[in-house]
Amino acid sequence: MSIKHSISAWFNAFVNLFYPQLCESCSNYLFKNEVCICTRCLFHLPKTDFHLEKNNPVSILFWGRVKINYAASYYTFSKGSQFQTLIHKLKYHNKQEIGIALGRHFGESLKNSNFFKDIDFIIPVPLHPKKEKIRGYNQANLVAIGLGNSMQKPVETGNLVRLVHTDSQTKKNKLERWQNVDSIFQVIDPISLQGKHILLVDDVVTTGATLESCAHAILKAEGAQVSIATLAYA
Ligand SMILES: [Zn+2]
Repeated sequence: MSIKHSISAWFNAFVNLFYPQLCESCSNYLFKNEVCICTRCLFHLPKTDFHLEKNNPVSILFWGRVKINYAASYYTFSKGSQFQTLIHKLKYHNKQEIGIALGRHFGESLKNSNFFKDIDFIIPVPLHPKKEKIRGYNQANLVAIGLGNSMQKPVETGNLVRLVHTDSQTKKNKLERWQNVDSIFQVIDPISLQGKHILLVDDVVTTGATLESCAHAILKAEGAQVSIATLAYA
C-alpha cells in the first residue's frame, strides 16, 4: 500500500468513526464493503427472479399493447414493506444513492440473463423537465446508471423526452388517460435508435402505461427493439 493510499484509508476510517455510514433500510452500521444497504437487508428484499423467465407477470402486462422483447422487475413492491420505504426515500427524500446501489445489484443479475445480453443502450423513463427541476433528479436515471455500471452498457438521456405533465391523470377516464399517455413522449433523434435493442428503465411498474407509451415512441425508429427493466413490480 502506498503512503497516499494508506493516508486516504486512514482518513476514511477516521471520518467513519465520527460519521458512520448507516444502512438506509435498517439503520445499522455498514461494513466497509457495503454501500447504502447492508448485506442482510439486501438478502431479505423480495426478489422476483423474473429475468430468468420470458413470460413473467411484467412481460405479460404488455401483451397486446406494445411489442416488448423481454421485461423484468427486480423486486416485488408491497405496501408497508421495508422495500417501499427504500423506494420512498429514493423518490422523495433525495436518497439518490439508493437508486444507483439497487440498480447495480439488479444489473449483476441481468448481466447473467441471456435475454438482456444484446442490449445496445439503456434509456431511463424521463420526467417532465419541470418536475425534474423541482425534485432535483430523475430516480429512473439513477437506476439506469447503476444498471449501466454493472452491465457495462451506456445510458442515454435527452433523446427520449416527456412533452407534457401528467399530474391530472387521476381525474380522467380510462380512454382519455390512454390517449393522453400515448402523446406524452417523443424521440428527438430516431435515427440513432434504428436497429438498436434498447433497455427502457423505470423505478416502479404498476399499470405499465408510461412504459408502454415510451416504447411506442422508441419503436417508431426503424428496426428498434425494446426490453424493459424496473426496480419494482407493484
Ligand atoms: Zn440493513
